[in-house]
Amino acid sequence: MRQTLTLGRLFDIRVGVHVSWLVVYAFMTLVLGRGLATLPPPTAYGLAAGCALILFASVVAHELAHALAARRFGVKTDAITLFLFGGVATLEHEPPTPKADAVIAAAGPGLSALLAVLAIVPVVLIDRFVPGGALRDGLGLLGAYVMLANGVLAIFNLIPAYPMDGGRILRALLWRRSRDRDAATNTAARLGIAFALLFVASGVLIVAATHEPVYAWYAVLGAFLLRQGWSQERATRPSRIPHHPRHPELEPRHPELQPRHPELVEGPVAAA
Ligand SMILES: [Zn+2]
Repeated sequence: MRQTLTLGRLFDIRVGVHVSWLVVYAFMTLVLGRGLATLPPPTAYGLAAGCALILFASVVAHELAHALAARRFGVKTDAITLFLFGGVATLEHEPPTPKADAVIAAAGPGLSALLAVLAIVPVVLIDRFVPGGALRDGLGLLGAYVMLANGVLAIFNLIPAYPMDGGRILRALLWRRSRDRDAATNTAARLGIAFALLFVASGVLIVAATHEPVYAWYAVLGAFLLRQGWSQERATRPSRIPHHPRHPELEPRHPELQPRHPELVEGPVAAA
């Protein structure tokens, strides 16, 4: 992604943020800070910025889980990037087998679910051992946010809307059955398109019903997923892939249509 600021390297993988993430960060801090209206503004906005930072760390951890699982199957990850709709782990190439595909896709939501459950421990400890007051309320809020952010990351990404994690797990199952990765990707991408259209329609309907423009987010996210799903569907459409039964190695399969860097797309973090 262009306009990406590199923050550093974790496990030898470049971690960066696209400028659009900075917008998400500022927006979240403002919205969450405004929601804590009972607190003095410096405390409210400090806690809100802390929540936004927790979300950032949660998405990075989720992407790292994908990347480290991929490494176990010999697939390198070029970079982890946070952007408007969440995070992206850019894998160097597609997973070699359906099993690898499923494990890599499941690793992210798996870790997010684990973190959401583990966060219960500090929340209980804070509640029990920190004396009542502003400090306990603040720490309790941050702990609860770790549970919420990771819980949403786990559940939302398991929706079978390719190229999100759930859609990738579905693709792996179809791939194992048919032994044809492109056909499996095509079917999963079509379902992804259906989900994307559902997001767009839901976003529009909710805004119409509630007059709350913030729900337009789902329509915007749907439009993004629609574009992703459609490009994957197009890249794997049988008519687009020439078959060369005798010398398949001589002609690459439409390289411009085959994304060299499969991306694990997460979303929507800003709703978390
Ligand atoms: Zn994921």
